[in-house]
Amino acid sequence: MHVPAKPSPKEVPRATFLGRAVAGNLGALAVGVKYFFDPNRITLLYPHEYIKLRQGYRGYIVLIFDKCISCASCARICPARAMKMVSINVFDKKLKKYMKKKYPVINYNRCIFCGFCVDVCPTEALYHVPYHDLVYNSMADMVLTLEDFQKEPEFVTAKEGVPVTYIYDEKKGLVKVHYEEEGGEVQKAEGGQASAATEAQGEQAQGGGG
Ligand code: SF4
Ligand code: SF4
Repeated sequence: MHVPAKPSPKEVPRATFLGRAVAGNLGALAVGVKYFFDPNRITLLYPHEYIKLRQGYRGYIVLIFDKCISCASCARICPARAMKMVSINVFDKKLKKYMKKKYPVINYNRCIFCGFCVDVCPTEALYHVPYHDLVYNSMADMVLTLEDFQKEPEFVTAKEGVPVTYIYDEKKGLVKVHYEEEGGEVQKAEGGQASAATEAQGEQAQGGGG
């Protein structure tokens, strides 16, 4: 079968190139104008709005110290080598003396939020918080101390921002709505930490973690 050779750019008339360029730009402008007048704005006005993520979202990780049995499974399974064990002196109530024990700490420079460490923990000593938009002052700050690893990080965006979620409408497509209007209740705890009192009806489309 004979396949006609593609004309080289030199063989395509200049007017055709110009025509395509103008048509392409007009098409792009038409899309912009269409969405400028479309009342269904799905763009997130971050940080004045933020996506209220569901419980179970793989956000930042917190250690419950008293539940940890120092098995190191979390550090062993971590594919990014973000979790490591550190030794500290702990008072053993049974033996009534101080003993060296190892506990995990996390390096958020390396963490990919896969959640393996949380899943593998045999005592549920690790859990995710459903937010991940935190800012650190330096890379050194992203390597948590054992003390910091036990605190839920402050969710600053929730102090001022309005929680929103996205739903799918058959006519309009993706629609942004206030989280409360969808049946979710957001409680502003002291310090601005937001938490869902009830979950919105049905599970709306939200990405996985990290
Ligand atoms: S979430 Fe994944 S990458 Fe992050 S510390 Fe846990 S196992 Fe490692
Ligand atoms: S897997 Fe759980 S119990 Fe084991 S060291 Fe990690 S946090 Fe502690």
